[in-house]
Amino acid sequence: MRLHNFNPGPAALPLGVLERARDELVEYQGSGMSIIEHSHRGKEYGEVHQSALGLVRELLAVPDTHEVVFMQGGAHLQFSLVPLNFLPAGKSADYVVSGGWAERAAEEASFVGTAREAARSIGVQNPTSLSLDPDAAYVHITSNNTLEGTQWQSFPDTGSVPLVADMSSDLFSRRIDVGAFALIYACAQKNLGPAGVTLVIIDKGFLSRARADVPPSLRYDSYVRAQSLYNTPPTFAIYMSRYVLEWIKAQGGLAAVEATNQQKAQQVYRVLDEHPSFYRSPVERASRSVMNVVFRLPSEALEERFLAEAKQQSLVGLKGHRLVGGMRASLYNAVSLESTRRLCDFMRTFAAESRA
Ligand code: PMP
Repeated sequence: MRLHNFNPGPAALPLGVLERARDELVEYQGSGMSIIEHSHRGKEYGEVHQSALGLVRELLAVPDTHEVVFMQGGAHLQFSLVPLNFLPAGKSADYVVSGGWAERAAEEASFVGTAREAARSIGVQNPTSLSLDPDAAYVHITSNNTLEGTQWQSFPDTGSVPLVADMSSDLFSRRIDVGAFALIYACAQKNLGPAGVTLVIIDKGFLSRARADVPPSLRYDSYVRAQSLYNTPPTFAIYMSRYVLEWIKAQGGLAAVEATNQQKAQQVYRVLDEHPSFYRSPVERASRSVMNVVFRLPSEALEERFLAEAKQQSLVGLKGHRLVGGMRASLYNAVSLESTRRLCDFMRTFAAESRA
């Protein structure tokens, strides 16, 4: 029996995608072997690879000014690759510290050069004003703060300074204007597929200004020129992501997925708002994340009981991150309206029974 999975990542994947991968695992489309046994330079995998890249471009409406690449190393490696490639000696980069992951990105950059804090606001609201350096090499933001449950609803205007975004936990959950960003990166294990592949979208002009004194395996340019086949890519993760992308397309694309995600988030936030003396949301309204709904209960003892009883109802993955505590319901694309409704029903019943 499959559970209602609210894991923060790795997270729920569409059942149809898992079933298809299961059916094809031993022999991929009459080719005599599994897709993960095929050469990454062969015809079968080549089609998967190009199709996945094409679907990324199509679904996100990536303009011709931008390249799309698959890499490895998770979002963490991007924390250091971005400054290694784009923070030249003598310059500094602006970091908007809006959560634990943003903090980590800034910390990694500080090993390469100067990572200046352009704003700090963690957990309650998105930073309201940024003190930007017009000479910064780039501005780095985190579009959705997975741990704290805050999300940018619109993005800051950084003028002529290139905007770099960690979109690990909300890329493919809503429509975005890719052209407004110099570089976007996202690990896959929330809305795109299994862990192991990282998606990077990069402006060609920005890329042309990258540092040349970096080892080739750490340069974006290497992956772009080799069409993400610089070395052996994570073929299975890309194969799975391709089916997830097809699933997103079949849902009606990002506009449809975005509407469903809004609906799911509104349902859970409504329960919080209906029970203000029982469920407490630490996040102010305008900064509420559509992907990760963070909330507290009146005591830690009640929080533990909440998790235990939720589990009995097959609702899992609701424990908040260890650095933040409390509860967190991650409502990524593959979490259904039905799973969300079950969670809301459980939350209402739990609040009523705990008060009685
Ligand atoms: N950034 C954000 C916004 C994340 O949510 C995560 C993962 N939860 C990371 C970075 C780190 O990703 P990875 O484990 O792939 O390095």
